[in-house]
Amino acid sequence: MTFSSTTDARPDSVSETRIPKPRSNGAGGRAPVEQRRPLLVFNDVTKTYPNGRDALKDVDLIVPEGDFVFLVGASGAGKSTLMKLLIRDELATQGTVTLDGDDLAKLPRRKVPHVRRKIGIVFQDFKLLPTKNVFENVAFALEVTGTPRRRIKPAVERVLALVGLTQQAEQYPKQLSGGEQQRTAIARALVHDPRIVIADEPTGNLDPLISWEILQLLLRINELGVTVLMATHDADIVTALRKRVVALEEGRVIRDEVGGGYHRAG
Ligand code: ADP
Repeated sequence: MTFSSTTDARPDSVSETRIPKPRSNGAGGRAPVEQRRPLLVFNDVTKTYPNGRDALKDVDLIVPEGDFVFLVGASGAGKSTLMKLLIRDELATQGTVTLDGDDLAKLPRRKVPHVRRKIGIVFQDFKLLPTKNVFENVAFALEVTGTPRRRIKPAVERVLALVGLTQQAEQYPKQLSGGEQQRTAIARALVHDPRIVIADEPTGNLDPLISWEILQLLLRINELGVTVLMATHDADIVTALRKRVVALEEGRVIRDEVGGGYHRAG
Protein backbone atom coordinates (compact mmCIF):
# COMPACT_ATOMS: atom_id res chain seq x y z
CA MET A 1 0.00 0.00 0.00
CA THR A 2 1.32 3.41 -0.84
CA PHE A 3 0.56 6.49 1.12
CA SER A 4 -0.29 9.84 -0.23
CA SER A 5 2.45 12.39 0.15
CA THR A 6 0.10 15.25 -0.37
CA THR A 7 0.40 18.00 2.21
CA ASP A 8 -3.16 19.09 1.96
CA ALA A 9 -6.05 17.06 3.30
CA ARG A 10 -8.49 16.72 0.46
CA PRO A 11 -10.63 13.63 0.12
CA ASP A 12 -8.40 12.17 -2.61
CA SER A 13 -5.70 11.68 -0.01
CA VAL A 14 -8.29 9.84 2.05
CA SER A 15 -8.91 7.25 -0.61
CA GLU A 16 -5.50 5.72 0.07
CA THR A 17 -6.11 5.40 3.74
CA ARG A 18 -7.92 2.66 5.56
CA ILE A 19 -8.94 4.77 8.53
CA PRO A 20 -11.60 5.68 9.25
CA LYS A 21 -13.69 3.06 7.57
CA PRO A 22 -16.88 4.41 6.07
CA ARG A 23 -19.68 3.45 8.40
CA SER A 24 -22.55 4.81 6.42
CA ASN A 25 -24.92 2.26 5.01
CA GLY A 26 -25.74 2.50 1.37
CA ALA A 27 -23.64 3.62 -1.57
CA GLY A 28 -22.22 6.90 -0.43
CA GLY A 29 -25.44 7.75 1.33
CA ARG A 30 -26.06 7.74 5.00
CA ALA A 31 -29.27 6.43 6.48
CA PRO A 32 -31.68 9.07 7.74
CA VAL A 33 -30.99 10.11 11.32
CA GLU A 34 -34.01 8.30 12.71
CA GLN A 35 -32.79 4.99 11.22
CA ARG A 36 -29.27 5.29 12.52
CA ARG A 37 -28.21 3.49 15.64
CA PRO A 38 -27.86 5.64 18.75
CA LEU A 39 -24.17 5.77 19.56
CA LEU A 40 -24.37 8.01 22.57
CA VAL A 41 -27.34 8.28 24.90
CA PHE A 42 -27.69 10.54 27.95
CA ASN A 43 -30.84 9.48 29.75
CA ASP A 44 -32.08 11.93 32.39
CA VAL A 45 -28.54 12.72 33.49
CA THR A 46 -27.76 14.92 36.44
CA LYS A 47 -24.22 15.51 37.61
CA THR A 48 -23.79 17.06 41.02
CA TYR A 49 -20.23 17.76 42.10
CA PRO A 50 -19.28 17.12 45.74
CA ASN A 51 -19.63 20.85 46.46
CA GLY A 52 -23.33 20.56 45.62
CA ARG A 53 -23.08 22.21 42.23
CA ASP A 54 -25.41 20.73 39.59
CA ALA A 55 -23.19 20.95 36.50
CA LEU A 56 -25.77 19.00 34.45
CA LYS A 57 -29.46 18.72 35.22
CA ASP A 58 -31.95 16.26 33.69
CA VAL A 59 -30.07 15.99 30.41
CA ASP A 60 -31.55 13.82 27.68
CA LEU A 61 -29.49 13.53 24.54
CA ILE A 62 -29.32 10.95 21.79
CA VAL A 63 -26.51 11.12 19.26
CA PRO A 64 -26.94 8.66 16.40
CA GLU A 65 -23.93 7.12 14.72
CA GLY A 66 -22.56 9.51 12.11
CA ASP A 67 -23.99 12.68 13.59
CA PHE A 68 -22.12 15.98 13.74
CA VAL A 69 -23.10 17.91 16.85
CA PHE A 70 -22.05 21.35 18.03
CA LEU A 71 -22.28 21.74 21.79
CA VAL A 72 -22.65 25.40 22.69
CA GLY A 73 -23.21 27.40 25.83
CA ALA A 74 -21.58 30.02 28.02
CA SER A 75 -18.63 29.19 30.20
CA GLY A 76 -19.90 27.14 33.14
CA ALA A 77 -22.92 25.81 31.22
CA GLY A 78 -21.78 22.20 31.60
CA LYS A 79 -20.08 21.38 28.29
CA SER A 80 -16.89 19.99 29.80
CA THR A 81 -18.83 18.01 32.35
CA LEU A 82 -20.88 16.42 29.58
CA MET A 83 -17.66 15.42 27.82
CA LYS A 84 -16.12 14.14 31.06
CA LEU A 85 -19.12 11.88 31.59
CA LEU A 86 -18.74 10.58 28.07
CA ILE A 87 -15.10 9.62 28.57
CA ARG A 88 -15.97 8.29 32.03
CA ASP A 89 -13.72 10.79 33.78
CA GLU A 90 -16.77 11.50 35.92
CA LEU A 91 -19.83 9.41 36.66
CA ALA A 92 -23.42 10.65 36.54
CA THR A 93 -25.08 11.29 39.90
CA GLN A 94 -28.41 10.30 38.41
CA GLY A 95 -29.44 8.82 35.06
CA THR A 96 -27.39 6.81 32.60
CA VAL A 97 -24.78 7.51 29.97
CA THR A 98 -24.57 4.83 27.31
CA LEU A 99 -21.89 4.62 24.65
CA ASP A 100 -22.32 2.10 21.87
CA GLY A 101 -24.66 0.10 24.08
CA ASP A 102 -22.47 0.11 27.19
CA ASP A 103 -23.77 1.79 30.35
CA LEU A 104 -20.62 3.62 31.39
CA ALA A 105 -21.41 3.48 35.11
CA LYS A 106 -21.74 -0.31 35.01
CA LEU A 107 -18.65 -0.94 32.96
CA PRO A 108 -16.31 -3.45 34.59
CA ARG A 109 -12.89 -1.87 35.14
CA ARG A 110 -11.26 -4.23 32.63
CA LYS A 111 -13.58 -3.00 29.87
CA VAL A 112 -12.84 0.69 30.41
CA PRO A 113 -9.80 0.87 28.09
CA HIS A 114 -11.73 -0.94 25.36
CA VAL A 115 -14.59 1.55 25.54
CA ARG A 116 -12.24 4.54 25.76
CA ARG A 117 -10.67 3.47 22.50
CA LYS A 118 -14.00 4.12 20.82
CA ILE A 119 -13.47 7.80 21.59
CA GLY A 120 -10.91 10.16 20.10
CA ILE A 121 -10.32 13.38 21.99
CA VAL A 122 -9.13 16.71 20.60
CA PHE A 123 -8.28 19.58 22.95
CA GLN A 124 -8.09 23.32 22.52
CA ASP A 125 -4.42 23.38 23.49
CA PHE A 126 -3.46 20.32 21.38
CA LYS A 127 -1.67 18.53 24.26
CA LEU A 128 1.18 17.26 22.10
CA LEU A 129 4.35 15.89 23.67
CA PRO A 130 7.08 18.47 22.92
CA THR A 131 9.93 15.95 22.89
CA LYS A 132 8.28 13.71 20.31
CA ASN A 133 7.91 14.49 16.63
CA VAL A 134 4.59 14.33 14.76
CA PHE A 135 4.93 10.64 13.93
CA GLU A 136 5.97 9.77 17.49
CA ASN A 137 3.15 11.79 19.04
CA VAL A 138 0.60 9.82 17.05
CA ALA A 139 2.41 6.51 17.51
CA PHE A 140 2.55 7.04 21.28
CA ALA A 141 -1.23 6.75 21.47
CA LEU A 142 -0.93 3.22 20.11
CA GLU A 143 2.20 2.30 22.07
CA VAL A 144 0.54 2.97 25.43
CA THR A 145 -2.25 0.56 24.59
CA GLY A 146 0.18 -2.20 23.66
CA THR A 147 -0.42 -2.22 19.92
CA PRO A 148 2.12 -4.54 18.26
CA ARG A 149 5.01 -2.57 16.76
CA ARG A 150 4.42 -3.85 13.22
CA ARG A 151 0.91 -2.37 13.22
CA ILE A 152 1.91 1.04 14.52
CA LYS A 153 3.78 2.38 11.48
CA PRO A 154 1.07 1.73 8.88
CA ALA A 155 -1.64 3.02 11.21
CA VAL A 156 0.25 6.25 11.89
CA GLU A 157 1.13 6.76 8.22
CA ARG A 158 -2.48 6.37 7.23
CA VAL A 159 -3.84 8.95 9.67
CA LEU A 160 -1.05 11.41 8.85
CA ALA A 161 -2.04 11.10 5.19
CA LEU A 162 -5.65 11.66 6.16
CA VAL A 163 -4.86 14.94 7.94
CA GLY A 164 -2.33 16.00 5.29
CA LEU A 165 0.79 15.83 7.45
CA THR A 166 2.84 13.13 5.75
CA GLN A 167 5.57 15.64 4.92
CA GLN A 168 5.76 16.93 8.48
CA ALA A 169 6.07 13.53 10.16
CA GLU A 170 9.54 14.22 11.53
CA GLN A 171 8.93 17.75 12.72
CA TYR A 172 8.52 18.59 16.38
CA PRO A 173 5.49 20.48 17.75
CA LYS A 174 7.42 23.73 18.15
CA GLN A 175 8.31 23.60 14.44
CA LEU A 176 4.63 23.44 13.45
CA SER A 177 1.97 26.09 12.99
CA GLY A 178 -1.03 26.02 15.30
CA GLY A 179 -3.14 24.45 12.57
CA GLU A 180 -0.55 21.73 11.97
CA GLN A 181 -0.37 21.02 15.70
CA GLN A 182 -4.11 20.62 15.81
CA ARG A 183 -4.05 18.36 12.76
CA THR A 184 -1.44 16.24 14.55
CA ALA A 185 -3.77 16.05 17.54
CA ILE A 186 -6.64 15.02 15.27
CA ALA A 187 -4.46 12.30 13.73
CA ARG A 188 -3.68 11.07 17.24
CA ALA A 189 -7.38 11.04 18.07
CA LEU A 190 -8.12 9.01 14.94
CA VAL A 191 -5.34 6.46 15.12
CA HIS A 192 -7.44 4.09 17.24
CA ASP A 193 -10.18 4.15 14.62
CA PRO A 194 -12.69 5.64 17.09
CA ARG A 195 -16.45 5.69 16.72
CA ILE A 196 -16.72 9.23 18.01
CA VAL A 197 -14.39 12.21 18.12
CA ILE A 198 -15.04 14.71 20.85
CA ALA A 199 -13.40 18.05 20.35
CA ASP A 200 -13.33 20.59 23.17
CA GLU A 201 -12.93 24.05 21.62
CA PRO A 202 -10.57 22.71 18.94
CA THR A 203 -10.36 26.06 17.18
CA GLY A 204 -10.09 28.15 20.35
CA ASN A 205 -6.38 28.87 19.85
CA LEU A 206 -6.45 29.27 16.07
CA ASP A 207 -7.09 32.21 13.79
CA PRO A 208 -10.29 32.17 11.70
CA LEU A 209 -8.77 30.87 8.46
CA ILE A 210 -7.03 27.98 10.18
CA SER A 211 -10.15 27.30 12.22
CA TRP A 212 -12.01 26.74 8.97
CA GLU A 213 -9.35 24.30 7.82
CA ILE A 214 -9.74 22.33 11.02
CA LEU A 215 -13.51 22.35 10.61
CA GLN A 216 -13.20 21.10 7.04
CA LEU A 217 -11.08 18.26 8.34
CA LEU A 218 -13.59 17.36 11.06
CA LEU A 219 -16.39 17.47 8.51
CA ARG A 220 -14.48 15.13 6.21
CA ILE A 221 -13.84 12.73 9.07
CA ASN A 222 -17.55 12.85 9.81
CA GLU A 223 -18.35 12.12 6.16
CA LEU A 224 -16.27 8.99 6.56
CA GLY A 225 -18.69 7.87 9.24
CA VAL A 226 -17.07 9.03 12.47
CA THR A 227 -19.48 10.78 14.83
CA VAL A 228 -18.27 14.23 15.92
CA LEU A 229 -19.22 16.12 19.07
CA MET A 230 -17.60 19.54 19.19
CA ALA A 231 -17.87 22.07 21.99
CA THR A 232 -17.29 25.56 20.71
CA HIS A 233 -17.78 29.27 21.25
CA ASP A 234 -17.20 29.99 17.59
CA ALA A 235 -20.53 31.46 16.56
CA ASP A 236 -19.47 32.06 12.93
CA ILE A 237 -18.63 28.42 12.37
CA VAL A 238 -21.73 27.07 14.07
CA THR A 239 -24.07 29.43 12.29
CA ALA A 240 -22.46 28.88 8.87
CA LEU A 241 -22.45 25.09 8.96
CA ARG A 242 -26.08 24.49 9.93
CA LYS A 243 -25.37 21.25 11.72
CA ARG A 244 -27.13 19.97 14.81
CA VAL A 245 -26.74 22.39 17.71
CA VAL A 246 -27.20 21.37 21.33
CA ALA A 247 -27.21 24.40 23.63
CA LEU A 248 -26.60 24.12 27.36
CA GLU A 249 -27.49 26.72 29.95
CA GLU A 250 -26.84 26.17 33.64
CA GLY A 251 -26.57 22.44 33.05
CA ARG A 252 -29.79 22.02 31.11
CA VAL A 253 -30.29 21.43 27.40
CA ILE A 254 -32.21 24.53 26.36
CA ARG A 255 -32.10 23.88 22.62
CA ASP A 256 -31.44 20.91 20.36
CA GLU A 257 -32.03 21.62 16.71
CA VAL A 258 -30.70 20.46 13.39
CA GLY A 259 -29.53 23.25 11.13
CA GLY A 260 -29.49 25.76 13.95
CA GLY A 261 -27.27 28.78 14.40
CA TYR A 262 -25.11 29.56 17.39
CA HIS A 263 -27.83 31.72 18.84
CA ARG A 264 -31.48 30.85 19.01
CA ALA A 265 -33.25 32.28 15.99
CA GLY A 266 -35.64 35.18 16.56
P1 ADP B 1 -18.29 24.53 30.67
O1 ADP B 1 -17.40 23.49 30.11
O2 ADP B 1 -19.53 24.76 29.87
O3 ADP B 1 -17.55 25.82 30.94
P2 ADP B 1 -18.23 22.98 33.12
O4 ADP B 1 -18.78 21.64 32.82
O5 ADP B 1 -16.74 23.12 33.21
O6 ADP B 1 -18.84 24.03 32.09
O7 ADP B 1 -18.82 23.48 34.51
C1 ADP B 1 -20.21 23.45 34.81
C2 ADP B 1 -20.39 23.90 36.27
O8 ADP B 1 -19.86 22.92 37.14
C3 ADP B 1 -19.69 25.20 36.59
O9 ADP B 1 -20.48 25.91 37.51
C4 ADP B 1 -18.41 24.75 37.25
O10 ADP B 1 -17.95 25.71 38.16
C5 ADP B 1 -18.85 23.49 37.95
N1 ADP B 1 -17.77 22.51 38.06
C6 ADP B 1 -17.07 21.98 37.04
N2 ADP B 1 -16.18 21.08 37.49
C7 ADP B 1 -16.34 21.04 38.85
C8 ADP B 1 -15.72 20.31 39.91
N3 ADP B 1 -14.77 19.40 39.66
N4 ADP B 1 -16.15 20.54 41.16
C9 ADP B 1 -17.10 21.42 41.42
N5 ADP B 1 -17.75 22.15 40.48
C10 ADP B 1 -17.36 21.97 39.20
